[in-house]
Amino acid sequence: MKSYHYLEEYNIKVTNEIMERFSGIIHEIGEEADREGLAKTPERAAKAMLFLTQGYKQDAAAILKSAMFKESYNEMVIVKDIELYSLCEHHILPFFGKAHIAYIPNGHIVGLSKLPRIVDVFARRLQVQERLTEQILDCINDTLKPQGVAVVIEAAHMCMMMRGVQKQNSVTTTSGFRGSFEKEETRNEFLKLISSDLS
Ligand SMILES: [Zn+2]
Repeated sequence: MKSYHYLEEYNIKVTNEIMERFSGIIHEIGEEADREGLAKTPERAAKAMLFLTQGYKQDAAAILKSAMFKESYNEMVIVKDIELYSLCEHHILPFFGKAHIAYIPNGHIVGLSKLPRIVDVFARRLQVQERLTEQILDCINDTLKPQGVAVVIEAAHMCMMMRGVQKQNSVTTTSGFRGSFEKEETRNEFLKLISSDLS
């Protein structure tokens, strides 16, 4: 069963299996898996991994549907600077940054706190930034059926920063647009609003 709240309790069998594998990894990299500082690391790492991937067990559409309201407001709604933490599926290293979401209602609005919630649902999986952007976009488009929806994600990838090319300051930007945001004028208004610093 999919639910909003997961990991209040951990599945013991799954946790134990992941713990055993982390023990193996710690040993293989040349550490003493049983020295004091590392004794509980496999368990902590297993629980962290399960927490960071809990999105597989959550239903983003259900979260949106739980707070949709009939409303005639039909101007652009923007939630910007949504904190985002995910794991890249190529290296299982974090990428993190901000998501900006806008939609133009078509008879229904959604509780604003639900947009950051669905960002978490999709971010807490093994991801690529491009697919994360599309999944958020499609979920809002298919569930809320707005006149249009736009998503921009700006993120820094630890797999680039800590290894490989070691570009310390590069930020990757992805974006997607549906419906009325496919019109240049609407899209530009959104992009202008998220880049202006009102705070
Ligand atoms: Zn990566």
